[in-house]
Parts: sequence; structure tokens; C-alpha cells
Amino acid sequence: MILVFGKTGQVATELQTHAPKARFLSRTEADLSDPAACAAAIEALKPTAVINAAAYTAVDAAETEERLAQVINGNAPGAMAQACADLGIPLVHLSTDYVFDGSGQTSWKPGDPTGPLGVYGRTKLAGEEAIRATGCRHVILRTSWVFSAHGSNFVKTMLRLSESRNALSIVDDQIGGPTPAAAIAQSCLRLVEALQDGQRGGTYHYAGSPAVSWKGFARETFAAAQRDVVVRGIPTSEYPTAARRPLNSRLDCTSLQADFGIGMPEWKPALTEVVKKLIA
Ligand code: NDP
Repeated sequence: MILVFGKTGQVATELQTHAPKARFLSRTEADLSDPAACAAAIEALKPTAVINAAAYTAVDAAETEERLAQVINGNAPGAMAQACADLGIPLVHLSTDYVFDGSGQTSWKPGDPTGPLGVYGRTKLAGEEAIRATGCRHVILRTSWVFSAHGSNFVKTMLRLSESRNALSIVDDQIGGPTPAAAIAQSCLRLVEALQDGQRGGTYHYAGSPAVSWKGFARETFAAAQRDVVVRGIPTSEYPTAARRPLNSRLDCTSLQADFGIGMPEWKPALTEVVKKLIA
């Protein structure tokens, strides 16, 4: 039995569709703010693998809640990994492009130097390091710009705004790969299988193709929804947020393809599907 931390999030919801036999733990069953309880859940349920799809994902709020974000994103994954190591089972864990500082124009490779700009990225990086330190068999899968028909994400925000606005100013100097949560869920399950078959793990990147700016992604969203919204590009400096965000979020996903045969998902067809569901 695969044990999944997270039940209601974007990726966790998609995992429920693609792995209906897995056991999903909601916040009330396993609160990541209590890492020992997460480890105890693994020890009690004795799964054959663990996927951690839960995280503190409120990037701006994290700036004023560093201790909580650190426990959820840093300490809890470490405790999960130790429990997995003790049971000899693999862990698939999700991480983020925000572990990088966003400099340059080239795609980040998994081994490139990290340099998070804010608390969220720092705590997610701490989680990665805690997992590696346990020596458990794992894949840390860094992804970016997750979207789906559930939870909160950029696509849903754009569609909501388009109900009351016919012109929007959207950041056009942050570039990244929008990644469908459904594709992430399927990749996590393939990674679990590969690890269970004895394949070596490590840190990998998985992001949608092609890279695009938020402005470009907004335009595609409105095109898919057939909504007439004028989208003007603005620099990040004109859209201040509590947390700084990386400008260059491009992730180089070639090692995931080479080692696991998992290619980058095309985000446009997935966007069409998600928008169709949302406006239905
Ligand atoms: P969501 O924000 O949609 O969901 C987060 C999940 O974590 C929810 O199920 C939430 O439960 C759960 N959670 C939060 N706090 C706790 C807690 N204290 N105890 C137990 N559960 C908790 O996340 P996504 O599906 O979008 O993200 C999945 C992964 O991908 C995360 O690791 C994230 O860091 C990473 N990622 C996400 C990106 C994005 O754009 N969203 C970009 C890059 C990486 P509840 O509903 O109860 O709050």
C-alpha cells in the first residue's frame, strides 16, 4: 500500500484519481506540524512506499510564519524519510523551483547551486537536505507553477478575475514551466514503481513545456476559456509581494527523462482540459 501525505491539495487530489487504492492522510489524520506523528503514522501503517504531497505552500504568508513553514516543509519530510529508511521503503517527495535564486536565462539542473530568495524556498530546501541526510531511498522531484481544476492556482485566479475585469496587468519577467498536477501525480506513481524495482533515486526536475511568462500563461488561459481580456505585461517590480520570487524558474528535466523515461509534459493541452472543467 502506498501512503500519501496530503488529501486535498492539487497533487494529492490528482493522486486520488490515479491511485485510488493508496491511503491518503489528511491534515487531521497526520499534521505535518507534528513531524513525530508523521513518522509514527508510517511506522503504524507499514506502507510499501510513501509520497509526500503535503506542504506549507503559502509563499507570501511564509515570510511571517517561518517557524511553522520550517517544521512542515523542513522537519516533517526529514522525519518521514527516517521512518522510510527504518522500514526500508522508498519516499517520493515534491520540491520546488523556488530553491533557486532565479538568476540567468538557462534552465536549472538538479545539481546547480541553490539560493532560495525567501522563507518558502529556504524551508523546502531544508526538507530536501533532511531527506538526503537519512540515506533513505528517495526521489526529490522539484516542480513549478502547478495548476489543476482544484485548490488555488494561477489559472483559477485568472478565470475569477476575468469575470469582473476586461484588462489585466500581469508579470512578464518571471519565466517558468506551468506543470499540470495530474502529470505530477502520474510521475510520482511511476517513480514509486521504479524505486520499488530497485532503481537508484536522487534529485530530479519535472516541469511543463514550453517555458512561458505569467503574462503568456494568462493569455493562453483566456484563449482556452474564450474570454476577451486584454493582458498587459509588467515587470515584477510593479507587482510587489511579501516574498521575492525567482525570475528564471526554467527547470532542466533531461535527467528525469534519461534515468526514468519521464518526459516534460506539454502544458497547453492540460490547460485546455482544466479550463473546460472550471468553466463547465
Ligand atoms: P497545495 O497547496 O494544493 O496543497 C498542499 C497540501 O498540503 C494540502 O493538502 C494541505 O492540506 C496540506 N497541508 C498543508 N499544511 C499541512 C499540515 N500542517 N499538515 C498536513 N497537511 C498539510 O499544494 P500543491 O499540490 O500545489 O503542491 C504539492 C507539492 O508541490 C508541494 O510540496 C509544493 O511545495 C510543491 N510545489 C508546488 C507548486 C505550486 O505552484 N503549487 C510549485 C512548485 C512546487 P489542507 O487542505 O488541510 O490545508
